[in-house]
Amino acid sequence: MSDTPDPPPVSPDIRSWANAFFAAIGWAERSPEDIAREQENAAAEAAFDAITDFRATRHITDSRGGAGTVSITEVDGQRYIGVNSENFDEADRERARQWEGTLGIPAGRPGSFARQALYHAEAHTLMQIYENTDGEMPAELTLYVDRIACSSCQNTLPIIISAMGIETLTIRLANGRIATVTEEGFVGDWQQ
Ligand SMILES: [Zn+2]
Repeated sequence: MSDTPDPPPVSPDIRSWANAFFAAIGWAERSPEDIAREQENAAAEAAFDAITDFRATRHITDSRGGAGTVSITEVDGQRYIGVNSENFDEADRERARQWEGTLGIPAGRPGSFARQALYHAEAHTLMQIYENTDGEMPAELTLYVDRIACSSCQNTLPIIISAMGIETLTIRLANGRIATVTEEGFVGDWQQ
């Protein structure tokens, strides 16, 4: 038989001292904001890993022979990857032409600046989601993109998302910087 005494009950003093100690060494209980940020970071890491895997299986070019932008996201468990029009197939080109009409982009040279965005990775991703969901777009969506948006995308993406019914499009870059796109335009630290 052991006559070891029971350990003393944890006193409130010891509990508050322990909480202060763990806070001091960075083990404080995580706030909902911390947890949300960790989840966003994990999602971004998975997305950029998926872009790396995609690039390993397919050479994505741009119009100058360089590496083209890749954009990726997931909606309802389905992954969508966008590329620029150098890498489009005929269905992709037809989809972009249809959106030119829907958005009222003028034919020929007058619409050339606005039109470019429909042939870039970001809009390519959105057009595929729109088609697959029959236009039931999420109100909020995050695209993971490995280049900053060009001036045509900055001009036209707000118009595209508004026409598609997306309220807020978050564009997250590999360096963690973010552009928040609404029908009003782009805001955020993405260009810094
Ligand atoms: Zn662009």
